Amino acid sequence: MQRNIKELVSKMTLEEKASLCSGLDFWHTKSIERLGIPSIMMTDGPHGLRKVSEKGDTVPATCFPTAVALASSWNEKLLEKVGEAIAEECLAEGVSILLGPGVNIKRSPLCGRNFEYYSEDPYLSSEMAASFIKGVQSKGVGTSLKHFVANNQEHRRMSISAMIDERTLREIYLASFEGAIKKSRPWTVMAAYNRVNGKYCFKNEYLLTDILRNEWGFEGIVISDWGAVDIYERAEALKAGLDLEMPSSNGLGDKKIIEAVRNGKLSEEILDKTVERLLTIIFEAIDNKQENATYDRRKHHEFAKEVAKECIVLLKNENNILPLNSKSKVAVIGSFAKNVRYQGGGSSHVNPTQLDIPYEEILKLVDDPSNVLYADGYDLESDEVKEELINEAKNIAQNSDVAVIFAGLPERYESEGYDRENLSLPKSHNKLIEEITKVQDNVVVVLFNGAPVEMPWINKVKGLFECYLGGQAVGGAIADLLFGKANPSGKLAETFPKKLAHNPSHPYFPGEDDVVEYREGIFIGYRYYDKKEIEPLFPFGFGLSYTKFEYSDLKIDKKQAKDTDTITVSVKVKNVGNMAGKEIVQLYVRDVESSVVRPEKELKGFKKVELNPGEEKTVTFVLDKRSFAYYSTDIKDWYVESGDFEILIGKSSKEIVLKDTVNVESTLKIRKKFTRNSTVGDLMEDPIGSKILSQLIEQFSKNSPIGALNQTNPEFFLSLLKYMPLRGLVTFSRGMFTEEMLDDILKQLNS
Ligand code: BGC
Repeated sequence: MQRNIKELVSKMTLEEKASLCSGLDFWHTKSIERLGIPSIMMTDGPHGLRKVSEKGDTVPATCFPTAVALASSWNEKLLEKVGEAIAEECLAEGVSILLGPGVNIKRSPLCGRNFEYYSEDPYLSSEMAASFIKGVQSKGVGTSLKHFVANNQEHRRMSISAMIDERTLREIYLASFEGAIKKSRPWTVMAAYNRVNGKYCFKNEYLLTDILRNEWGFEGIVISDWGAVDIYERAEALKAGLDLEMPSSNGLGDKKIIEAVRNGKLSEEILDKTVERLLTIIFEAIDNKQENATYDRRKHHEFAKEVAKECIVLLKNENNILPLNSKSKVAVIGSFAKNVRYQGGGSSHVNPTQLDIPYEEILKLVDDPSNVLYADGYDLESDEVKEELINEAKNIAQNSDVAVIFAGLPERYESEGYDRENLSLPKSHNKLIEEITKVQDNVVVVLFNGAPVEMPWINKVKGLFECYLGGQAVGGAIADLLFGKANPSGKLAETFPKKLAHNPSHPYFPGEDDVVEYREGIFIGYRYYDKKEIEPLFPFGFGLSYTKFEYSDLKIDKKQAKDTDTITVSVKVKNVGNMAGKEIVQLYVRDVESSVVRPEKELKGFKKVELNPGEEKTVTFVLDKRSFAYYSTDIKDWYVESGDFEILIGKSSKEIVLKDTVNVESTLKIRKKFTRNSTVGDLMEDPIGSKILSQLIEQFSKNSPIGALNQTNPEFFLSLLKYMPLRGLVTFSRGMFTEEMLDDILKQLNS
């Protein structure tokens, strides 16, 4: 419906305007009946609806795979559909804004909330988020992209200051938000609890206004994370760009806004702009509300199973132990097989509409259920190794053809609110796996966890599935994959290190007192393991299939391009096995030579393709300036350094199967600023500088003793001078090169 928002704002009193800037309660905005302004509801996400009813319980909703699992599907269309399905549930429950998705980067595998985030790679993360947002918002439900920004740990999350250099902030942590915001325009962005470089996100004008609104063109509203706002600074926060304080602070924040306007500390125009933005979103939500909206729970559950199947990653399949034969005698071991872990703890906790139990789903797929034996193997409630449980499990394992062990992290290990202390599984799980491998050669491990774990037993097991936290239908999904009713097609959206100490953030995580320094800089995840040549347990982008894919015919539409051009890359992929499957084709870019530090390669494109046996498809990628650029802190913008770039096509970040080179030329020439402290070497590299330098050298070498060296050994002469600051020439030239001459040269160089 067409409304004149500005006119409406002009009718509001100062008190009414301020009242809109904070929540009514935990989940609603305030209404203003006099002016027909309604209240709207927002609730968590992100992988299902968590609506708290008036009675205080959580209404049932479909629990989809958590973000870490969704990202492992690398399937943008799928994420869009998940978004649509969750939005349908929002509409049925009268919810206007879903509080998600979360795109914080997985800096450390220890972060307790990693299961709610997509990836260690900003490109993958922002593409996944963009698709999810597109899906939710296509139904008229808003999203809240969170937690803006650098909320990469739970430890002291409400006070910690993430100290991040500008380039790293731009290339890694902000980039994860930037792509999603520009592509899918979320209705809202949630300002994080923490500080960035000393300043709290909730009142950070640089982040909320300069970058988010002015640079990226964000037009929605900024909401605070729950309780992030220091009431004392509510007016300052509004000025910085924070529109809505959540939840309610019982009018305290509103009072501060009113006071600030009255005493001239906050201009009413700024408040008006905020209110305009709030009203735009509120009315958009109201216009999209649907009376009597419903959804089909059964269908959503079935869809959740389809999704889970695409998310699970097959990490090991020695001697093709998988898929299992439905006639085999199978020992199902581990309490998780009956008490499956399928979601994470904290504000994202969904009350599922139903739950698939892996053990029961396995029974449905085997020819003879009496061939399936079961043992708990460990106690869910404690980490203690229980010999009797292990012995019982060993007993059934040795009387079976194969043992499938369900293991992972119990909920107490990882949650919103705290980080993990190590990457270990409970010792009872590790011991169980070790012991079973002593009595059974055919062991398959199925893991349920929100983030990487160390696997001391990896060489002793033949099969390994990573299910992550796969949602309410993960039990059915894993059963289908185990028995080949479906073909695994997930790949890791993060690196699994061999041990925690290999992780780049390890020495600095989680910081000291209220400061955490991101000293590893841009070298996060595979960017680090590649550079340091550290072999990971499983690399970023890795995952197996029951079929095989072959790549050929890499084509680049132009071998010479400008940074303003787009470059189209295509490659053929063929299913050369005998089962239909899906492959995730990855494109990385490597800057062959650079004057700044760059990763060995960076993900700049990916596509998931479905192929029948024998089928071949051409996959196409379009690259643009950002695919080649780094963030230049000199020009405060993205910059492509002219030169050759390798286009790498990989099955994973480690397995590059095809490559070619393109030459990209920058349309922007950055000229260095020269000062007295610039070196002779800097001059040599500059086209104007090198001319000036040769003239100088000529003069010098004629008239100074050291200059004689230039006559006999000019190369050595130059290498001696290379690191000398220009001011040194004044000192050493015995008056031949004067201060005035230096000033004159600097003028020429900088003009
Ligand atoms: C979390 C947010 C969540 C909010 C509302 C906060 O503690 O950090 O992710 O959306 O609570 O539950």
